[in-house]
Amino acid sequence: HIVLKEQQHSDPPSVAPTINESILPRVKGAFVALARNREVHAMRSSMRYLEDRFNHKYNYPWIFLNEEPFTEEFKNLTRSMTKAETLYGQVPVDHWSYPDWVNQTLAKECRQSMIEKEIVYGGSESYRHMCRFQSGFFVLHPLLDGLDYYWRVEPGVKFSCDIEYDPFRVMQERDLKYGFTIALKEFYETIPTLWDTTLDFVRRYSNYIYPKSNSDSLFQVITNDNGLSYNLCHFWSNFEIGSVSFLRSERYQAYFRHLDAAGGFFYERWGDAPVHSIAVALMLSSKEVHWFYDIGYKHDNFEHCPTEPDWLVHGKCYCDPLTSFDYVPGSCITKYLQVTNTTVNDYIITPAE
Ligand code: GDP
Ligand code: MN
Repeated sequence: HIVLKEQQHSDPPSVAPTINESILPRVKGAFVALARNREVHAMRSSMRYLEDRFNHKYNYPWIFLNEEPFTEEFKNLTRSMTKAETLYGQVPVDHWSYPDWVNQTLAKECRQSMIEKEIVYGGSESYRHMCRFQSGFFVLHPLLDGLDYYWRVEPGVKFSCDIEYDPFRVMQERDLKYGFTIALKEFYETIPTLWDTTLDFVRRYSNYIYPKSNSDSLFQVITNDNGLSYNLCHFWSNFEIGSVSFLRSERYQAYFRHLDAAGGFFYERWGDAPVHSIAVALMLSSKEVHWFYDIGYKHDNFEHCPTEPDWLVHGKCYCDPLTSFDYVPGSCITKYLQVTNTTVNDYIITPAE
């Protein structure tokens, strides 16, 4: 035994998955993170959380995307955080530049007026390219070919609970297309014409829309006046576990192209979260969408922490339930539960033995 131990200690740290390591079976899933080189340490932090809470048992690959080439430093410092495969991709120029129908002078004027109105990221050009990319293009990247599910991760996010089941497998077994942890209201000023542009799409492509008269329609999650206006509710897309084939589907991509043609990613500041969410609510049934209630998650100052007293003892979370955003004004969870006629208990997943 002593000899064995010594050998283990003198081995160089292994970065590649080794064959004798027992790894649980995987579905076709991967983490996907868009990041800048300068975010490497925040990226490593997110990885550390996910590896420790979940991925060390599965070794799902990590895919990193960037409109600039990743530096060797970024690659080395992220590769060393996991035993899993790490892949680095560059965003094609077409997916991170102005389409030729967008008037760049007007876009600049719009940014200026949003600065004056003190709208978050209102003056940022790169933020708009990012939101457009995350809305429709990221899923088309060839590194996602062959994948069934992506789990979006951002630099600097935190996971507070041990994840004792495989969320990718849950997606597959339940035939889910979209999963979220936090639902909240968007700033109206960032998307003034998004809803009218969406209604125009709905009129033209009604065959792509899930019938809103069905009892499991999610339509009422995003409107309080039966479609006259958008109630600003959206799933926060910095955490997302989604179906690659849904976002690559003709119906979703047609919606994205329709929005892109209207120019609102540049003239306003349409975020990928409302865009994904509106599509989910219009095209999917509530049975295809899951609130990952038992995944404790924090991005900036917003946190989801499981709050049910009965469940807390089983949850292995470090977060304080009192800090959870779920039932705070501005959250859309109550609305979601009400429309889907569900309760928290419907979302707790007990790991298979
Ligand atoms: P916020 O969450 O809305 O405050 O926006 P973030 O700054 O966190 O950006 C969202 C995601 O896009 C994160 O994964 C960022 O790393 C990434 N991101 C934002 N801007 C850029 C950019 O200009 N280039 C690259 N490569 N990634 C970006
Ligand atoms: Mn962020």
